[in-house]
Amino acid sequence: MAALDLARLITAAADTIAAHAEELTALDQAIGDGDHGLNMKRGFEAVRAEAQAFSAKPLPEALKAIGTKLVMTVGGASGPLFGTLFLALGKEISATPDRANLTAAFGKAIEAVGARGKSQVGQKTMLDVLQPAYEALVAGKSAAEIADIADRAADATVPMKALRGRASFLGDRSIGHMDAGGRSVALLVRTIGETLEG
Ligand code: ADP
Ligand code: MG
Ligand code: MG
Repeated sequence: MAALDLARLITAAADTIAAHAEELTALDQAIGDGDHGLNMKRGFEAVRAEAQAFSAKPLPEALKAIGTKLVMTVGGASGPLFGTLFLALGKEISATPDRANLTAAFGKAIEAVGARGKSQVGQKTMLDVLQPAYEALVAGKSAAEIADIADRAADATVPMKALRGRASFLGDRSIGHMDAGGRSVALLVRTIGETLEG
């Protein structure tokens, strides 16, 4: 793995979220309260504003700082969950991660999200995209393959019935729409993969 340029990663992630904010909001309008795009954009712009300071830190500290910032700024249910993802990644990752360390850290971070959200795979949440992306990483897939797997996993949330988050209030009416948080994860997985490889 090439040396990690965190400032570039932050810029790319914030650009992607900004470019897709309306799409994410529209997904959340169908089965939630229609704020997911705005929530994510607010959070990633707050991280972007401190990209230089964050990327000057050792990677574990930088990821923890990003997680804390996301908890403080994204809001909603997804803020603490995306925040937990980055906080836990920061706890588990080494300063100079290889693929094995990144994979192990990502696995632990997903466990932390599930614990925080009291959620599991199959409940139509971001976990339904995080877990297949993680398994693809474990299986040695390329960044492009992992991104495609994450896209298909987000598509696969469409027929699911939501059992966590606001969409679960709709019961069967949550069926037939993509989970907004899952779509965010797929967007971030593709962007991070392309940035790490490019
Ligand atoms: P809110 O629903 O509070 O308005 P957002 O709209 O920002 O928050 O985020 C909604 C997304 O958060 C959902 O699409 C889902 O992916 C994720 N989510 C909600 N609750 C949980 C949970 N308990 N576990 C995992 N993910 C969750
Ligand atoms: Mg919402
Ligand atoms: Mg909300």
